[in-house]
Amino acid sequence: PSASDGAPPVIHQRDGLRLLRRVGVVDPSSLDGYRAAGGYAALRNALRMGQAAVIREVTDSGLLGRGGAAFPTGRKWAATAAQPAGPHYLVCNADESEPGTFKDRVLLEGDPFALVESMTIAAFAIGARQGYVYLRGEYPRALRLLRNAIDVARERGFLGVDIMGHEGFSFDIEIRRGAGAYICGEETAIFNSIEGFRGEPRTKPPFPVEQGLFGKPTVVNNVETLVNVPLILTEGAVAYRSLGTEASAGPKLFCLSGNVERPGVYEVPFGTSLRELLALAGGVPEGRSLRAILLGGAAGGFVRPDELDLPLTFEDARAAKTTLGSGVVLVLDDLADLGGFLLRIAEFFRDESCGQCVPCRIGTVRQEEAIRRVLAAGSEERPLLREVGGVMRDSSICGLGQTAWNAIESAIDRLGALQ
Ligand code: NAD
Ligand code: SF4
Repeated sequence: PSASDGAPPVIHQRDGLRLLRRVGVVDPSSLDGYRAAGGYAALRNALRMGQAAVIREVTDSGLLGRGGAAFPTGRKWAATAAQPAGPHYLVCNADESEPGTFKDRVLLEGDPFALVESMTIAAFAIGARQGYVYLRGEYPRALRLLRNAIDVARERGFLGVDIMGHEGFSFDIEIRRGAGAYICGEETAIFNSIEGFRGEPRTKPPFPVEQGLFGKPTVVNNVETLVNVPLILTEGAVAYRSLGTEASAGPKLFCLSGNVERPGVYEVPFGTSLRELLALAGGVPEGRSLRAILLGGAAGGFVRPDELDLPLTFEDARAAKTTLGSGVVLVLDDLADLGGFLLRIAEFFRDESCGQCVPCRIGTVRQEEAIRRVLAAGSEERPLLREVGGVMRDSSICGLGQTAWNAIESAIDRLGALQ
């Protein structure tokens, strides 16, 4: 790797890995290495099963989107495949920009052929001939390795025309790079960006499954979501579902960061407790105690030290007034500056608001100003913050504005912050 590539991913675990099993073990630039480690068995199965059976298997597996919103993947695929007017498109959202999220980077850099194979299976299922990876611009190492994987797959007949000898099945992948805007990870802003327009979200509905890229039926899936698909097609939906819980099936990647001994990406089954996950990463540094954990990222919610038995599932997180989001587990110890941390979140949303709609454009500025006043002068700003936050949540066009007050509200209500 060149100097600007950054360090290759380090995985602290070795036992029980499925999504990460090849990362750091198999050469990410070698198709032969990938195949020797089980690669392309799932696509072979998919081609044998046929389009409808692949969608049924993914639906039966209970796979939920891992980008943050947990939408059922099989439903998305079925809805797109059912649209009569094509062309149909597949977009992999690899614009991983949620603060504290770096799991997709590990997959992209450590196992890029897995994404190429997974996208090829998805394309087969939904009837797409063209796919795009919208890649975070600040991931140069991922770009190099993914570009190599796509080129090698094409040379060897795993992309292009009559893939793996399956007559009539053609598919190819283009990479499009983001340019540093967080909002370009929002799926409809991705469409605008790929089409050459300003990266601003569109109103939904219509959902992309009906009108997406170039106004055509489109599946948008996150990297981790897609990389679950070969597991499902090699093990079968029933075996896949045996891991995790009824409503949150399978394995999940979590990104441990902040005041923790061994930050990094960890893979555990859904239902593992937050306490167990924290222990895997070595807990808070010696001599410190836990203040709080932010789950789900800047749009997530805080968990207190007395709630560490929380099972990590979408449903339990919701019940605890937080979210798993994209797998952020950001740990704050007793020395952490909570007020400064909340101000940083407010600055982030003010910076990253695309400015298209008033509630978010103005609300994120007012939110930041109010937090600055509390921190500087101890003034009572909570009623104003609640009002501004409520308006942003109720009337913003996209998820950024709708969730820009989540973590701050959670810190006020659950940690007694900003008093
Ligand atoms: P959303 O709930 O609007 O949609 C989730 C997905 O389901 C989308 O693909 C959407 O098109 C689809 N969908 C929803 N309803 C549908 C329907 N009725 N029919 C067909 N498809 C439907 O959420 P969103 O705004 O796309 O994403 C928000 C999430 O993104 C948050 O949870 C946040 O955690 C996450 N996020 C992740 C990152 C990251 O870097 N991974 C960055 C920012 C935000
Ligand atoms: Fe842009 Fe914010 Fe409106 Fe989303 S909510 S469209 S980021 S201004």
